[in-house]
Amino acid sequence: MNLRNIAIIAHVDHGKTTLVDKLLQQSGAFRENQRVAERVMDSNDLEKERGITILAKATSVVWKDTRINIVDTPGHADFGGEVERILNMVDGAIVLVDAAEGPMPQTKFVVSKALALGLRPIVAINKIDRPDGRPTEVINEVFDLFAALDATDDQLDFPILYGSGRDGWMAVSQEGPKDQGLAPLFDLVLEHVPPAKVEEGPFRMLGTILQADPFLGRIVTGRISSGSVKPNQTIKVLDREGKMIEQGRVSKILAFRGIERSPIELGEAGDIVSIAGLTKGTVADTFCALENDVPLPAQPIDPPTVTMS
Ligand code: GDP
Repeated sequence: MNLRNIAIIAHVDHGKTTLVDKLLQQSGAFRENQRVAERVMDSNDLEKERGITILAKATSVVWKDTRINIVDTPGHADFGGEVERILNMVDGAIVLVDAAEGPMPQTKFVVSKALALGLRPIVAINKIDRPDGRPTEVINEVFDLFAALDATDDQLDFPILYGSGRDGWMAVSQEGPKDQGLAPLFDLVLEHVPPAKVEEGPFRMLGTILQADPFLGRIVTGRISSGSVKPNQTIKVLDREGKMIEQGRVSKILAFRGIERSPIELGEAGDIVSIAGLTKGTVADTFCALENDVPLPAQPIDPPTVTMS
C-alpha cells in the first residue's frame, strides 16, 4: 500500500484532537458501531480503563488506497532531540492554527524544527466558524513566522486550507465548500506530501518513542528506514556509536491502524511501527537485522535546545 507519514503541529487547544477524530471518522476508520467519542490522542482515561497501552502517539487513516500515518508532536520545547526525532519519521506536516488566536509561541519551536528538517508544511486555519476569527490576518502572521524562521521559497509557498475541524470540513477557500468534508485535506496530503522515504538494505529502524506496556513490556516505536521485520525474528540493537547493546527476538510488531495499534505479520520499509520483545534498546538506538553494523544517524538526546520566546 502507498504510504504517507505526516505530523500535525498545533498549539494546545487549536483543535488537533477534534480534527484527528473527524479524519478517522470520515476516512471510514471506524466501523459503524465503534464509538468515536473515545478521543484518540488524549486516550489516557481509556488506557487506564482497559489496563493497556493505547496511548498511541500516532494514528492512521486510509484514503484512496494510501495509508496516512499521522504522528503527534509534543507541543512543548523541553525534550532535547525528541521533536527532531519525531519529525524525522515524517515527510510532511500540517500546521494547524486557530483562526482567532493565530500562531502561538509554543507552535513556533516545532515549526522551526520542521522547517530546518526541510519539511514543506501545509497550513490549515482552523475554527473558521469562530465569530472572532480573522483568517486572512492569521495567514499573514504564519507567513511572517515562516519567514522569520528562514523558510525557503518552497516552504513559504505553503498550501492553505481553511475550515472547522469541529464541523468536519476543510477547503481551499474560506467560504468552503463545506459539503466535501475533509476530502480536500486528504487529497492535498496525497498531492503535496512525498511518499514515505525508503532506503535500500536490510531492516533498520531508529528508536523514536519508548513506552512501557503491562503485557508487552518495552515497546519502541519508529519508522522502518529499510528492509522489513517479522515477529519472532532475531534482531539486534546498536547504540549511536555502533556498539551492540543487545540481540533478541521480536515478540510482536504493532502498526497504527485507525484508532488502535494492531499486531501485524510484517513491518515494511516506510511504515511507522512499534516493536516489543527487546529489553534494553531505547530512543536514538538503531534496531536492525543481524547483518547490520552501521547505526542510523540520531539527533543528540542532550542537552535540550530550548529557547523561550
Ligand atoms: P487540542 O488541544 O489541539 O487537541 O484541541 P481540541 O481538539 O481538544 O480542541 C480544543 C477546544 O477547541 C475544544 O473545546 C473544542 O471543542 C474546540 N474546537 C475544536 N475544533 C473547533 C472548531 O473547528 N471550531 C470551534 N469553534 N471550536 C473548536
